[in-house]
Amino acid sequence: MTTIGVLGGGQLGRMLALAGLPLGLRCVFYDQAGEAPVDAFARRVIAPYDDEARLAELAESVDLITYEFENVPVATARFLAERRPVWPPPVALETAQDRFVEKSFFLRLGIPTPPFRAVDSRADLDAAVAAIGLPAVLKTRRMGYDGKGQMLLRVAGDLDDAWSRLGGAPLILEGFVPFNYEVSVLAARSTTGEVAIYPLIQNTHRAGLLRLSLAPAPDVPPDLAARAADYARRVLAALDYAGVLAIELFVAGGDLVANEMAPRVHNSGHWTIEGAETSQFENHLRAILGWPLGSTAAVGASAMVNLIGALPPAPAVLSVEGAHLHVYDKATRPGRKVGHVTLRASDMAMARLRLDRLRAATGIESAESAID
Ligand code: AMP
Repeated sequence: MTTIGVLGGGQLGRMLALAGLPLGLRCVFYDQAGEAPVDAFARRVIAPYDDEARLAELAESVDLITYEFENVPVATARFLAERRPVWPPPVALETAQDRFVEKSFFLRLGIPTPPFRAVDSRADLDAAVAAIGLPAVLKTRRMGYDGKGQMLLRVAGDLDDAWSRLGGAPLILEGFVPFNYEVSVLAARSTTGEVAIYPLIQNTHRAGLLRLSLAPAPDVPPDLAARAADYARRVLAALDYAGVLAIELFVAGGDLVANEMAPRVHNSGHWTIEGAETSQFENHLRAILGWPLGSTAAVGASAMVNLIGALPPAPAVLSVEGAHLHVYDKATRPGRKVGHVTLRASDMAMARLRLDRLRAATGIESAESAID
């Protein structure tokens, strides 16, 4: 039995472990938090990420190590990498954890980004606004997720307030991209160098959280999907990557502009469990083990809706044809992702119809609106 150590213990880890079971793979988790979605069926070590004795013990007890949480300290990943293979490589974590390093990396690879500047002082902020113009988005370089740690600057009068809220940490100022759509490209690369790329995914966010993913992206021209796939290949090769990688991009007119990447399985790829020949979770495991990758082809069309802050009754969800329910075993709290539903259909028109039926059957939109 091959055993995989996974840093983190959230829903992504839960779905990784579930994907591993039929392949004869067992996951052991390592996480700092008290309660986690993997506890129902997997062993979890609860210890700080800098506890070298516990980390060494974990390494001893597994064949290789991955992570499902991108804010794992790079030092933790490097410590483990001296003992067991760690995939994706720690340099991928290091690159993705700092928005300035990440955008500089995209630029080096010829992947377009919004204009950006590092901001470490109030004077830097003025200079960055003078160079980039308004509107612009001020973000913390590190630890931002789901729209946290960032502010939109519309007019010069917004700067003082933004600086007083965010100014304690290293920042980045980015030009605001007037995008038509947000998309993500999800790719897998095996330790053997084999690459497989999923159809492009079209995403809708509200209040900083992903609400809806449609795949294959219905409104994006095929040439942009091919370009996004090319960008993903460049990133995978540059990092000598193994595992699943997600890159989030804006579609603005005929352009693709990179926002950020996640060196792990990704929320926008949950539809692949039922909507692709091989799920992102299975392909991540196959990739880090150096096994052949599975087909990333879509099976029909899918719409994935996050369940945020509340869970509708399962029978109401399941009354909708084509609905697949995933519950994460987490306490419900406003703004918290507690599950998702994938609606699969033969084509996108039918998937959208089923989405309307899901909304009518469950009222999920009104539960979500509580946090807007
Ligand atoms: P992030 O935490 O960087 O993924 O940003 C969260 C959300 O804020 C994105 O999904 C976008 O909807 C929006 N956003 C972030 N950066 C920009 C930008 N430079 N221009 C326009 N919208 C942005």
